[in-house]
Order: sequence, then C-alpha cells, then structure tokens
Amino acid sequence: MNGQALFPNYARADLVFERGEGCWLITTDGRRFLDFSAGIAVNSLGHAHPHLVDALKAQAEKLWHVSNAVRIEGQERLAERLCERTFADRVMFTNSGAEAMEVAIKTARRFHYDNGAPDRYRLITFEGAFHGRTLATIAAGGQPKYLEGFGPPVEGFDQVPFDDPDAVKAAIGPETAGILIEPIQGEGGIRPVDWARLRHLRALCDEHGLLLVLDEIQTGVGRTGRLFSHEWAGIEPDLMAIAKGIGGGFPFGACLARADVAACMVPGTHGTTFGGNPLAMAVGNAVLDIVLQDGFLDEVGRKGLALKQKAAGLVDSHPQVFETVRGEGLMLGLKCRPPAADVVAAAREEGLLGMGAGDNVMRLLPPLIVSEDEIDEAIDRVDRAASRIEHRLENPGAHPS
Ligand SMILES: *Cc1c(COP(=O)(O)O)cnc(C)c1O
Repeated sequence: MNGQALFPNYARADLVFERGEGCWLITTDGRRFLDFSAGIAVNSLGHAHPHLVDALKAQAEKLWHVSNAVRIEGQERLAERLCERTFADRVMFTNSGAEAMEVAIKTARRFHYDNGAPDRYRLITFEGAFHGRTLATIAAGGQPKYLEGFGPPVEGFDQVPFDDPDAVKAAIGPETAGILIEPIQGEGGIRPVDWARLRHLRALCDEHGLLLVLDEIQTGVGRTGRLFSHEWAGIEPDLMAIAKGIGGGFPFGACLARADVAACMVPGTHGTTFGGNPLAMAVGNAVLDIVLQDGFLDEVGRKGLALKQKAAGLVDSHPQVFETVRGEGLMLGLKCRPPAADVVAAAREEGLLGMGAGDNVMRLLPPLIVSEDEIDEAIDRVDRAASRIEHRLENPGAHPS
C-alpha cells in the first residue's frame, strides 16, 4: 500500500493519520500533530466531537439515504435554522462547495432569465478568487493554472483586479447578472475584502439590479467569529454558497437565497442524487447545535484575536521568515518570505499542521473549539519552525531539507 493506485493529482505529505481527538491528529505509528489546518477549515468542531459522533451514529442506525423525490426532515430542519439566522429564506443542499457554487451560479442566471432578461448571465469575479474545481467554478476563479488543458473555459465570467473599485463599475454591462466574491479570499492567501468595499459592492448591485453572490464556503459557519463573515460588513447577499465547516467533516454544502431569488429554481431546473441526505443533515444539525450555543461565536472571536496577536509577535521576532499576519477570527494567514511550502513543512516537522495558500501565505485554520493552551502550543511550534528556517537561511547548504 503506497498510493500508486491513486490519481497523481495531489502532492501529499507522507503522513497517515489513524484517528483524531479534538485539535489533535494521531498517526498510525503514534505521533501526535496539532491540527491547525482542520482539513482545510472543515473540521470546525475538531476531530471525533462526541456530539457529532452521537448524531451520526444515531442516524446511521435509522436511515442513510433517500432521494430528493421525497421529503427529508433533516433538510427541512437545517434549512429553517439557517434561514432563521441569516438573510436567506430558501436553501438547497449539495455534496460539496463547488456544487453549492454551481447552484449559486445557475440560480443567478436563471433569476434574470425568469425576470425577462435572459441576456444577463455574466458574473463579475475577482483576481485571486477560488470557487472550486468544476468546469464552471474554475472559469469563475479564472486562475490560468487551474484552467490549463481543460478546453475552452465556461463562458460568462468577467474578472477584475482584487483592489480596484472602479474596475468593478467599468465591468458592469447589459449582460451582467451579478457580482461573485469571497469576503476573505481563502485559497488566494487570506486576503480580506475591506468591509466598506463589500458595502460598496452591495450598493452597486442595488443600483444596477445585480445579484450579490457570496462564496462563504471557507469563511462561513463561525470561522471568523460571526456565523457568516459578511455580517461584519453589515450587509446581506442575495445568494450565498457554504460548505466546509457546516459538515464538520461530513461532506456537504448548501446554497442559500432570498425567496424571490430562489423562486426561479422550479422542479426540473436542478437537482442532485446525494445532496442533503439524512446522514449529512444529521451532522449539519449537530454542528449548528454547538456553533449556535450562547457565547460560542464570541469565544471564536476572542481566540482569533489572541492567535492573531501572538502570530504578530512571530512576525516581529522572525522578520526573515514572516512579513505580516492577516485575516479574521480563526482564519489567519502568515505571509512568508521564504516559500510558504517550506514554512508549512518546517512546522510539520515540529508537529504542527498548517496549510499553504496563494500569495505565499501559510494559513492557520484551527478547529473553532481550539483552546488557549493549544493556541500557545501552536505558536511555540511555529516559532521553532521559523528558527529552524532562519538557521538554514544563515547556513546555506549545511542543512539539506
Ligand atoms: C474549498 C472552497 C471551494 C470548493 O469547495 P469544494 O468542497 O472543494 O468543492 C469553493 N470556494 C471556496 C472559497 C473554498 O474555500
């Protein structure tokens, strides 16, 4: 068993984990790693959270799957709870983030089609964006490295620079259906969009009859200290894709919408075999049980601030390794000077799992249940990793890594 039978599309670290406990992962040979990647912001409540395990086991003994040809109580309940806490009135469940984005894109197009403007199908997107790996979502993300070799990109996306409000305005035309943005770019390197900027985009959409479509797949479900990160800006989107944290490790996503926006998606327009099956819904409801507990999100915000302050200390003490820290809540990025992949690898040698990202950033995305002590432990380990790298920089050639 060596992985040779798998597609070669991932550059994997040579680590095999057997089990997890909270913020810790344990390899098959007994080594413990502090998990500040959380499976890319997925294990929102850490590993093997008892409430999630109980919910999944209880559901597994009753019913795993039925098709969307019948009512599914878990879907109805989770949708109601999401709507109660957000701008949304309607929810469609999917299996993944990219599929939630596909629902959002199709709904945005179909909304204008239904409202007598079939030519309005284009979405304005942003340089550095990431919206998934399906054919439509790689076109939306617009990154050449993800588009190369896969034929003509899906039509209908107009990409503008990340930081140029005038470019957005200039890109709006008679075919524009909406604006699609991540409130904080995740894969792009934890690049936060100014909250004032987000309010400006909302106003532009209102002025031009466009839909504001948010990709909160990475930022959502408490990651930034609010249930959804756009709440910081005091605005509401018209459509929103979520995934990652909502399943706590069970793969599923959702597209949330206002009732008048979702109204176009009548029977026959879209569907999924697995999306929103009873197992996924049992776990999603259990995740919300915890995340919506009084004080939970405030605590995430508080811990995020502590982590950010301590990470800023690392930037001060290792200026050769780190340039800056940015992000919100427990979604932070350390911009590196040497290749971020080297810093992530050095941290791994210290038993700390981080995650690379664009713009030469190492992401810190711990489970939302991380403790103050675990934050200190993580900072110590990154500190040691940075010292290790400095030592290598000062003694080139002495330490082949
Ligand atoms: C992870 C991610 C996606 C894609 O989700 P998948 O579940 O991998 O399809 C889309 N958008 C953002 C912002 C993400 O972080």
